[in-house]
Amino acid sequence: TEKKKTFVLYPSLGVGHLNPMVELAKHLLRRGHSAVVAVVDPPDGDPTSAAAVARLAEANPSIAFRLLPAPPSPDPAAHPIKRAHDTLRLANPALRAFLRALPAPAHAILLDMFCVDALDVAADLALPAYFFFASAASDLAVFLHMPYLYPGLPSFKDMGELVRSPGMRPVRAADMPLSVQDKESDMTKARMYQFKRIAEGRGVLVFDWLEPTALKALADGVCVPGRPTPRVFCVGPLVNDGKKSGGGETRHECLAWLDAQPERSVVFLCFGSIGAVSAAQLREIAHGLESSGHRFLWVVRSPPADPADVFQPRPEPDLDALLPKGFTERTRDRGMVLKMWAPQAEVLRHAATGAFVTHCGWNSALEAIMAGVPMICYPMYAEQALNKVFMVEEMKIAVPLEGYEKRMVKAGEIEAKLRLVMETEEGTELRETLATARKMASDAIGDGGSSDVAFAEFLGDLENGGCNN
Ligand code: UDP
Repeated sequence: TEKKKTFVLYPSLGVGHLNPMVELAKHLLRRGHSAVVAVVDPPDGDPTSAAAVARLAEANPSIAFRLLPAPPSPDPAAHPIKRAHDTLRLANPALRAFLRALPAPAHAILLDMFCVDALDVAADLALPAYFFFASAASDLAVFLHMPYLYPGLPSFKDMGELVRSPGMRPVRAADMPLSVQDKESDMTKARMYQFKRIAEGRGVLVFDWLEPTALKALADGVCVPGRPTPRVFCVGPLVNDGKKSGGGETRHECLAWLDAQPERSVVFLCFGSIGAVSAAQLREIAHGLESSGHRFLWVVRSPPADPADVFQPRPEPDLDALLPKGFTERTRDRGMVLKMWAPQAEVLRHAATGAFVTHCGWNSALEAIMAGVPMICYPMYAEQALNKVFMVEEMKIAVPLEGYEKRMVKAGEIEAKLRLVMETEEGTELRETLATARKMASDAIGDGGSSDVAFAEFLGDLENGGCNN
C-alpha cells in the first residue's frame, strides 16, 4: 500500500496552465494523497489568476489553493512570455516562504514547464522537483533538444528547411513555436534557458499515451546530449471531463441549444482561453460557416489591437459591428454565437458536436480526443503549430486550415475543410481514428491501466530518490 504523500503543485500563469494542474491535483486526491496548488498572484493588478483560482477552488473544495503574494513587476516593455518567466523568477522568495511555512514538509513539488527557476528553491529545501508538462510529449522531445540544436542553425523565421530533432518527425521551421522563431530575441533566449532546465527535473509527468514516436525518443535518452533525459511518466490523460463538479450552477444556454440539434451536426469553433482573430478573419469565418450550410457554435472575441499580442485583455465583442450584415438573422436557425467563453469540455462531450475548429492548445486537443471529436486546426500562438504537426501528421486526428501562418484563412478554405470533416470519407476516417484514440485513453485511465502503472512508477521513483534512465 502506498503511503499518503503531500504534493505542492506550482502552475505558471494563465488558465491553460492552471486547469491541467487542477486535474493533476484531483488525480492525486483520488489516490489518497494531498495536494496544495500554489498560484502566483501576477503583479500589475491582473485579476485573472485570482478569479480563476476562486472559481476552481469553489468547484474543487477538497483541493487546497494558495495565492502567493504578487512579486515586483517585471520590465513592462518585455514580451509577455519573457514577463511571465521574470514574474515567476521574482516569485521565488514567496514560494520559499510558503514552502517553509507548510505545517509538514511536502514530499515533492510538481512544476509547470515555465517554473524552472523554482528548481533553485526546491534544491535549497531539498525538496524533490518534477515537472508536469501540460503539452504534447512530442513538444517535450523537441523542446529538450532545442538548446543543443539551435546554436548551429539560422533563426527559424529565416530557415526554409525542416528542423530535425533526434528520433522525431522533421518539422517545418515555420511550425516551431512562435516564441523561438527569432534566434536573437530575448524571448528565444529565455526559452532556451527554460528548455535546458526542464532536463534538471527528477522526472516529467505528461498526460499522454498517443505519441509512441516521442515517447520512444524520450525513453531512448536521445533528446538531451551529454546528460540523461529525464524519466517520463505518462499519467492520464487527465482533462476536464465535462461533468460539473460544483453543482447548483445553471446549465449554459448553449447546451440547451445543442440538445435541440441532431447528433454530430454542429461545428464548434473556439480558440483557447485567449485566442482571437482579426476583424477581417472574423468575417471570413462567418462567410465560410454560412456557405458550408452546417450548424455551428462559435465563440467570438474582440479582435486584438495588435494581432501578435493575444495576451492583452480585451473588451466584450460588439457582434453587430464585427459580423457581416444580416449574418445573425440568416443563420439564426442553425447557428449560435457566444461572446468570449463557452463551457468547452461540456460542448465537446455533447452528442450534437461533430467537429472542432481549434487553436491546438493541448488541453483543447485532449478534451476533443476524450470526446472523439475530429479537429480542424487554426494554430495561433505558443507551441500550437507544433501540436498541429503531430495532430495532423502523426496522430491523424485533425486537418489544417491553410493560411494560418499569415493569420488569414479564406472563407473558401473554411467551407472546404468543414465539408471535408463533416461530409466526406476522409472525415469518417478521422472519426474512426478518434474512436480508437478515445478508447485507448479510457483504457489508460481505467483501473490498472497504463496511467496507474506510470503513477506507481512515479511514486517508486520518488521513494528511491529519483533515478534518471
Ligand atoms: N476553455 C473553455 N472555454 C472557452 C475557452 C477555453 O472552457 O471558451 C478551456 C478549454 O476547455 C481548455 C482551456 O480553457 O481546458 C484552454 O486550454 P488550451 O491548452 O487549449 O489553450 P490555452 O488557453 O492554454 O491557449
